[in-house]
Amino acid sequence: MPYQNIFDTHAHYASSRFDNGREELLKNILPENGIRYIMLAGVELPDCCQSAELARKYDYVYCSAGIHPSHIQNLPDDWLEQLRELAKYPKCKAVGEIGLDYYRGKADAEMQKHFLISQILLAKELDLPVIFHFRDATGDAVQILKQYQPKGVLHCFNGSAETARELLSIPNLYFSFSGVITYANVRKPLEALRILPPERILIETDSPYLAPEPFRNRRCDSTMIALTAEKAAEIRQIPVQDFITIYCENACRIFHI
Ligand SMILES: [Zn+2]
Ligand SMILES: [Zn+2]
Repeated sequence: MPYQNIFDTHAHYASSRFDNGREELLKNILPENGIRYIMLAGVELPDCCQSAELARKYDYVYCSAGIHPSHIQNLPDDWLEQLRELAKYPKCKAVGEIGLDYYRGKADAEMQKHFLISQILLAKELDLPVIFHFRDATGDAVQILKQYQPKGVLHCFNGSAETARELLSIPNLYFSFSGVITYANVRKPLEALRILPPERILIETDSPYLAPEPFRNRRCDSTMIALTAEKAAEIRQIPVQDFITIYCENACRIFHI
């Protein structure tokens, strides 16, 4: 890969979809392709433990601890205590990914909000940033963000320029763009990417999901972030490596790396 010092700000290498090839990717392929840092996003308790194990094993890998809105069922009573302990590990740099996901409907919206707010308060208690996952939930998301004013990252931001402008009033909130910006017929996040100040932008892969074109629907890995960076740099009209350097500084700032 022609680029250097790349931070993949959101990936899931604990996922079973990497059982085939995980070690080879993390040990050799990703560092050889310019990947300097990776943030592993947690989605449920066992996966947060596995991510912490990977962070212990690989210097350049960091982790977060959180319960994703799709995993809030059947948790142990002491889930918040367990999360607090996981979050105290020094290489755990964020609470997340947490949020609201109404893609399959709003039947459990109140429960999702309860888990989201509990975890925002945990992040504040530990002075950690939050990695947010919001899907089809803009109204409730904006309301909660404005009320609690957390620091953190809106992962896979697919909102409009208008939503981005509204959320810019929250200091230390960053907007992270994924391979989705390379897909045909995607307009809204491109407009948001165009108008945001450079110091608030990040990019990510969400590996193994959301592979950029021309790899859409394949298993994504962090090497593919180059394609997303190229698209983002084109939108921003700056050289690709310059774009990478700026957003990686942003990522190090918000995650205290
Ligand atoms: Zn997510
Ligand atoms: Zn994710």
